[in-house]
Amino acid sequence: MLNLIIFGPPGSGKGTQSARIVEKYHLIHLSTGDLLRDEMENGTPLGKMVRKYIDKGLLVPDEIVLKELYQKASTHMDAPGFIFDGFPRTIVQAEALDRLLEKRNIPIGLVISVEVDEEELFRRLMGRAEDSGRSDDSDVIIRRRLEVYKQQTHPLIAYYRKQGKIITVNGMAPVDEVFGKICQAVDKHLIDQNSHSVAK
Ligand code: ADP
Repeated sequence: MLNLIIFGPPGSGKGTQSARIVEKYHLIHLSTGDLLRDEMENGTPLGKMVRKYIDKGLLVPDEIVLKELYQKASTHMDAPGFIFDGFPRTIVQAEALDRLLEKRNIPIGLVISVEVDEEELFRRLMGRAEDSGRSDDSDVIIRRRLEVYKQQTHPLIAYYRKQGKIITVNGMAPVDEVFGKICQAVDKHLIDQNSHSVAK
């Protein structure tokens, strides 16, 4: 089983890279942003509640996100692996994910951190705002999302570094190059994983 996290600030290109990774490694894509936006689009009571957070650029409370994620993941337990995109975003979420996966003996293998300068992030997010149709793509809200990332999500780098699971890629490079670097890291991880299980 291959469980990956793609990690990075809003606008770092996580979604684009996830789509490619999913295709190449046949993983199930779990994007909490997509799950929450589906709830908003369907106008469910939950969707109405989460909109209050998303439209302000704030994080949705951990309990809600965790419940959404568990529900979705539990329908794919026979998958060859997962890629988590936009999740975890807080230490509480990371600890909950570790507990869930350790219980099933399918821990996170690798955390891919995509690094992009803040001004480039802002430029990209403003650029995509015109056609994204996303209610959280306006300049004040984008600034807040970047701030929330720095305060609440960036500390996860240290969390996963301590576990020895993080690799970083330069997200300022062209999309193909970023993907190439990610594949190198994933392939190396797969080789290490195999030689480890043969040695056992
Ligand atoms: P981006 O990475 O561009 O901000 P996402 O689609 O990952 O986009 O997330 C959009 C919004 O959805 C976030 O700003 C936040 O309000 C909410 N959200 C997504 N994932 C989480 C999460 N794991 N925890 C809390 N809120 C989340």
